[in-house]
Amino acid sequence: MLFPTRCPECAREVRAEFADSAVHDLTCPHCGAEFCVLVRKHKFEVLFDLGTRALMDGYAREAVATFAAALERFFEFYVRAAVLERMADSETDFEGALAALDGTWKHVSAQSERQLGMFALAYLLREGRAPDFLTPQALGSEFRNRVVHRGALPRREEVEAYAARVFALIDRLLTELGEGAAHAALAQEAEFAAHLARLPGHVTAVFEEHPGMFRARRFGGDVPGKAAPDKAAPDSPRNDAQAFARALAERGPGLDHLLREHFLKEPFRKGGGDRS
Ligand SMILES: [Zn+2]
Repeated sequence: MLFPTRCPECAREVRAEFADSAVHDLTCPHCGAEFCVLVRKHKFEVLFDLGTRALMDGYAREAVATFAAALERFFEFYVRAAVLERMADSETDFEGALAALDGTWKHVSAQSERQLGMFALAYLLREGRAPDFLTPQALGSEFRNRVVHRGALPRREEVEAYAARVFALIDRLLTELGEGAAHAALAQEAEFAAHLARLPGHVTAVFEEHPGMFRARRFGGDVPGKAAPDKAAPDSPRNDAQAFARALAERGPGLDHLLREHFLKEPFRKGGGDRS
């Protein structure tokens, strides 16, 4: 999966492949300059955007698997944010908190069911109520399994409904997290800083912020034109069924620019990539 970036030396376009770490050490194929692109985006955001792109291009089945992965990574993001937020008030420093978190997560990292359990507890501790939205129906689990594990070919409207459900859930939980999300963002910044410290002096670092479906809420700030969470029913926040359609209309064009031609080329290429 490629994205376009620009060489800081000669300003020509360079294609980079999305890295799991969001850190991309690159050499410009035009002028040979070495640089490092750090993308301020979380894994769940990247995955949801790729799913949206796949859906827009008609790859319905691929979109389902990608949205499902986005939701799993979002649960991890929530746990990280909630734990780091809580530990920020303790005696432990940030690095110690991160190490404790990573040491804990490794017990659940290989199994999504365990991760769901950890998310449920994190939600209870932070919000003081049960995560009653974690039902198989609300998560679309049956649909996802039918498509991802049993090879069912979903209709586009089924995929759109699934995407809207996943989006609404993430959107609502991000709203509830509010400023708490910044703690997970801080963890990413710490990883970036550690990488930057290891770079030789001649390598230029470039930070990028990409458009995306969840961009507006990246650091837990207010979303323009959107009212504060419903004060009338503080104990039962609702998932906003129209949120996905609105976000798609507002932010789809930005994604289009970022991912269109790259996504269209990607599935047909054979192994290896085009780097030499
Ligand atoms: Zn260059």
